[in-house]
Formats: sequence, C-alpha cells, structure tokens
Amino acid sequence: MTMFRKFLPFASADLAIDLGTANTVVYLRGHGVVLAEPSVVALETIDGIRRVRAVGDDAKMMLGRTPDNVETIRPLRMGVIADLEVAEAMIKHFIVKARKIANVRLRGTPEIVLCVPSGSTMVERRALRDAASNAGARKVWLIEEPMAAAIGADLPVTCPTGSMVVDIGGGTTEVGVVSIGGLATSLSVRTGGDRMDEAIAAYVRRKYGLVIGEATAERVKMQVGAAQPCACPGTDAAHLMHVRGRDLARGVPREIELTRNEVAEALAEPVSQIVSAVRAALENTAPEIAADIIDDGIIMTGGGSLLARIDHVLAEETGLAVRVADLPLSCVALGAGRALEEDLYRQVLVPA
Ligand code: ADP
Ligand code: MG
Repeated sequence: MTMFRKFLPFASADLAIDLGTANTVVYLRGHGVVLAEPSVVALETIDGIRRVRAVGDDAKMMLGRTPDNVETIRPLRMGVIADLEVAEAMIKHFIVKARKIANVRLRGTPEIVLCVPSGSTMVERRALRDAASNAGARKVWLIEEPMAAAIGADLPVTCPTGSMVVDIGGGTTEVGVVSIGGLATSLSVRTGGDRMDEAIAAYVRRKYGLVIGEATAERVKMQVGAAQPCACPGTDAAHLMHVRGRDLARGVPREIELTRNEVAEALAEPVSQIVSAVRAALENTAPEIAADIIDDGIIMTGGGSLLARIDHVLAEETGLAVRVADLPLSCVALGAGRALEEDLYRQVLVPA
C-alpha cells in the first residue's frame, strides 16, 4: 500500500504548446493552461560563447535595455523558427517550467502537440518537430493553428458546417475556415501586432520627431490604441497617454501626449491589411460554406483581437457578425490541449 501511494502523484506529462511569435502558451494534460510567457530569449556572450541568460517574462523585461554582451531575440518573430538552437532552448525551458508549475511528478517522456501556422512549409514544420524532439518529446503531433483556435473557441469543427476564425498574433494574422475536422480555406498575412507597434513608432517619429522603443509602442497600442477613431468629441483623459522617448533632433529625452484618435490614425494601414486578408479569405470560400458563415459569423482570437474596435471594423467591412473569443490569448493552446485530451478531436492531429 505504501509503495502504491508513493506512485500516486505521477501524472501524464503530455503537453500542447502554442509557440507564438509573441507568446508561448502551454497546456498540460489534466491541468489546462499552466503557462503563458513572451517568446523571448536573452542571450549572453562571454569570451565568444553564447548562452541563454533569461527566457520568457524575465527576458522580455530586458528588451531594449540590454548591455552590449546581451541580446534579446524573438526566435519566432516572423511566425516560423528563425533560430533553431534558441527556439529549442526556449521550448525546453517552458517544458521544465510547466512541470514545475503543475507541481506533479510526471511519468515518462511527453507526447507534445505543437500548433503550426497554416501557411508553414514542410521545412518549417520539420524544424518545429526537431526542436520538440530534442527538447525531450517522445511523440510530436502537429495541429493547424486555425483549427486549434476554433476548438478552443468551442466552434463545431467536426460538423458539416463552416466556421471562420481570424487570429491576429504578433507576427501574422491567420484567417481560416474550418469544416468537418479540416481546414477548408486558410490564408496568412505578415501583418499583426508587431506591424501595429511599428506603425505607432513611425507615426510618433514623423509627427513629433520623437523616437520611441518597441515596448513603448506596444504599451501605447494596448492602452489607447483603437482600430477606428472614436466618434465621441474631445480628449477624454481615459483616451490620452503620456509617451516618452528620445528627441530626434536634440537627442534628449522628451514626453508628448497621444490621443486615441491619433493612434487610430497610425494604425489605419495595418488594420486595413487585416481587413483585406479577411475579405480575400471570404472570396476564396466555397459558396456552401460561405452561407454557413453568414449564420455563424466570424470569431476572432489572438492578442491583436483585443485592439479596441477591431471587431467593429471587421463587422462593418464584411457585413457579418463578429465575436471575440473568451480567452483570445490562450484560445489556440486550449484548443490544441482539447485535441490531445478529447477523442472527438483526435482526428485533427497530424503526426509530425
Ligand atoms: P502570437 O500567437 O503570435 O504569439 P498573441 O496571440 O499572443 O500572438 O498576441 C500577441 C499580440 O497581441 C502582440 O502584438 C500584443 O501586442 C497584442 N496584444 C495583446 N494585448 C493587446 C491589447 N489589449 N490590445 C492590442 N493588442 C494587444
Ligand atoms: Mg498565436
């Protein structure tokens, strides 16, 4: 009996990982989402040898503030693995951390489900698989991101009805139509949260001659950003933000005030690129499925769907009902985790 007890805390180590360009979210079988951290790694070079100094939250805090021998990189910036070695180190780090957080002794080596962008090539998928295998996976499965997002948002993916998912991530926006356990249409554009941040920084530089960092631009987007100018007149304090940067001409620190409508103006271009991608996907959708989308509308996920009024803009431009998923930042990981756990969805997993 005591022997038996000793083994009770063991649990399956299976994981689903949404390795996003901005954030990595990890789902542990039986526990749900246990970890969500920025996909950022800080590397330190000492005597010509590169080693990992920090990963995730700790590394993001260093972004733009590192000494010369430390560089922070986002190994997945453009949606695929740019630096395999670093991505591997990052996956390993998150696997270890997810196990620690769950606080259970895990049995054996894990099966891992990895979410892949629908537009990724065979080479890119192989790189992901290798990174997970080297990080200790016994078996690696892949799931297309729009499919995972749809499952995470409770859409009827196994039914003969079409549902459209728009996932605005850091590096890309993925538009997918799922039906009967497969992807009927998918389209990916390299416009997402990063482009929005760049657009804000470029606007501030052009209009105010002020240089701001990417972390500052991201904060502006989150706090006062909007996909559309606000109709309400005046400069409501809630829609104002003080922004600090370096004066372009004089090289000294300076502060300005930005209104929500200015930020909306700055974001016009990336927002219109996202709208065009959704339009293009709708045009490529078979008529029967397009008819289903009229009934069910569009569901949005990904951090970019939290941009104020982006759902309104999409609804206006497509004439369809648009809804943001309950947990847009963890929806994909949640869906991938359910595919791992629930027999109903098992068919959507592809062996890597
Ligand atoms: P990925 O899947 O590519 O890792 P995420 O779905 O995690 O991306 O979304 C990250 C992006 O969402 C970032 O560009 C981030 O700035 C943006 N984001 C997060 N919260 C908000 C918000 N409240 N408003 C606007 N953008 C946001
Ligand atoms: Mg994502």
